[in-house]
Amino acid sequence: MTPLQALHKYFGYSEFRHEQETIIGRVLNGHDVMALMPTGGGKSLCYQLPAVLLPGLTIVISPLIALMKDQVDSLNLNGIPAAFLNSSQTPDEQRNITDRLKSNQIKLLYLAPERLFGTENKLIDFLKSLPVSLFAIDEAHCISHWGHDFRPEYLMLAHLKDHFKNIPVIALTATADKLTQKDILEKLNLRQPSVFISSFNRENITYRVTPKNKSFNQLLNFLDGRRDDSGIIYCLSRKSTEALAADLKDEGYSAEAYHAGLDHATKARNQEAFLRDEVKIMVATIAFGMGINKSNVRYVVHMDMPKNIEGYYQETGRAGRDGLPSDAMLYYSPGDVIKLKNFVTLDNNEEQSQILFDKLNDMAAYCELHTCRRKYLLNYFDEQATDNCGSCDICLSEFKKFDGTLIAQKALSAVARLNQRFGLGYVVDFLRGSKSEKIRDEHKQLKTYGVGADISKAQWQRYLRELNAHGYLQITDDAYPIVKLTDKSEAVLKGQQKVELTEAQIIEEKTEEALPFEASLFDQLKVVRLNFATMENLPAYVILSDATLLEMATYLPQSMDELRHISGFGDVKLARYGREFLEVIKPYCAANGLTSKVKPKAAKQRQSKPRSEKVSNTQKESLNLFKAGKSIQQIAAERSLSPMTVEGHLTLFVQTGELEVTEFVDQGKIPAIQDAIESYGPERLAPLKEVLGDNYSYTEIKAVVSWLKREAEA
Ligand code: ADP
Ligand code: ZN
Repeated sequence: MTPLQALHKYFGYSEFRHEQETIIGRVLNGHDVMALMPTGGGKSLCYQLPAVLLPGLTIVISPLIALMKDQVDSLNLNGIPAAFLNSSQTPDEQRNITDRLKSNQIKLLYLAPERLFGTENKLIDFLKSLPVSLFAIDEAHCISHWGHDFRPEYLMLAHLKDHFKNIPVIALTATADKLTQKDILEKLNLRQPSVFISSFNRENITYRVTPKNKSFNQLLNFLDGRRDDSGIIYCLSRKSTEALAADLKDEGYSAEAYHAGLDHATKARNQEAFLRDEVKIMVATIAFGMGINKSNVRYVVHMDMPKNIEGYYQETGRAGRDGLPSDAMLYYSPGDVIKLKNFVTLDNNEEQSQILFDKLNDMAAYCELHTCRRKYLLNYFDEQATDNCGSCDICLSEFKKFDGTLIAQKALSAVARLNQRFGLGYVVDFLRGSKSEKIRDEHKQLKTYGVGADISKAQWQRYLRELNAHGYLQITDDAYPIVKLTDKSEAVLKGQQKVELTEAQIIEEKTEEALPFEASLFDQLKVVRLNFATMENLPAYVILSDATLLEMATYLPQSMDELRHISGFGDVKLARYGREFLEVIKPYCAANGLTSKVKPKAAKQRQSKPRSEKVSNTQKESLNLFKAGKSIQQIAAERSLSPMTVEGHLTLFVQTGELEVTEFVDQGKIPAIQDAIESYGPERLAPLKEVLGDNYSYTEIKAVVSWLKREAEA
């Protein structure tokens, strides 16, 4: 069997990713290999596939017991005999496994390093009696002091080559920095190793950084519309994880906390519930995540700035392992940097403190970028990148410079009138003429009160921060930051100094992206999967990934043969689960007049094309049909999309002027929608829909948003 045939048969995938194929080839030829790939890049396959093809046993060293079970369950589901040995098992269970090992019934054995070489129950002598074909060292950076999660027990692996001289070793890690790489090669004593460094770009993740301001409200906004998605929210302190989880529960979200201070049972319970989708949100310190293989994490939020780029990249990398679009959101406050300085200052170690401090500054610089965030991240890891990735907040926005003198004067005089004694939120509310009781009565009498009512709250906050960045204003670093004037303020107020401001406009709001799949079928397929998961007592994503369900809901396979073309169905899973899925897909298609799209899919294509291109094509196609005189219903039927998706496509062309707003919404309804948008901002549709009520549809709102954007540009 060739590696490609094995990939198809056991894993149900049609092609290799990154350098998997070359790596696997080297390993099969008996070479030592070190493979660096980003989290979610597909490292496991680099040793699991050789394990299937090699005659003997593959021993996998992995730091986390929790992770082993998941991996082993997944392999077994794919028809690959695998097992782990660890302290959580009874003597009987362990004996059963050693018996199976002796009779060569197991292809992969997972172990913690101390089980191999440690003082208690060490297995080294027993394993030497078995036909071992390969060692895989997962999370190999744990062997290095330089890595961010050094594990002393990994140092024992230095003896590996003494005991198994001619057995190839593959070391895998997602940590890229040079010192760690060198350490891994040296400590493991690899023989003329082939080193593979994959691109660290995670193209399905959209990176965003937002200035922190009432972060809980910002978070609620972000989570709105993501209620059914799984996500991880990172906080700096243990206490804040618990508080935030409780607050989210109060808002009706399914959330739990996780940090190193919780007792073992609670941690295990919360983690398990998250893996099984019973809890959607894990609010955690960085103690959570290593070895979390859950593939359908749709977003990672940082409520506080991480200490370095390495950690940030690893944490955000936990989103979207299944390759589907995912989000990384960071709420940034310059105050975080000051707080973190204490953390990175080590007593009696100036040199190390300086390294950590520099890393902290690199992280802060990332947060304050005005250029592509992805490019910065990739350059940080010594990788080239284009200037515009099309999927970070910077690249999704358009920046226009304009004469902001009048705006600056309004802001500065408000600060002056408020005697430089109030915070950002208060100044903004005051400028906008908020009727809130929070604004003092005497302030409501002032002339500046309400002079900025024409500018949205969010926009004012951006302007004030920009004025702060340019030194026309100062926002203090206190626990309760106050807005004050500076030496440069006076010239502006007197009209002696012009001020340039930038306006950011979101070109494409990603949540509006419409994949051409059958959403309600997708939901039904999830139910089928959940039934299997419950029956087998496994997390749902171990049964099949979201990406596999999404392919089914997109290509609509009608037979076992066609199902074979869906990525993720190997022989065993096909036989085990295929029929039940077909029993849902076929009637759904019959009822909706849909047919299979598997044939055109032909040789399965990876969905790795840049998203913007894909989106604009599908939108254009809808537009062309609409212009050819077809109704939305007709287009939807012809393209096997939902009418709502088609409407979503079309409303975007109101902004380009190719379609009129009145195609989608009655003239009479526009003012009310416009009002709502002006009060709440155009960024999120759900809150707008909520205030407008049932008489207004998402399509109508979207159309007016597009129209207003066009007006603003004109
Ligand atoms: P890593 O260990 O590098 O973080 P994994 O090995 O867990 O990543 O792989 C991430 C996901 O990608 C898994 O769901 C895996 O099954 C899937 N995957 C790996 N290789 C391929 C491939 N060639 N085609 C499709 N999916 C793949
Ligand atoms: Zn970018």
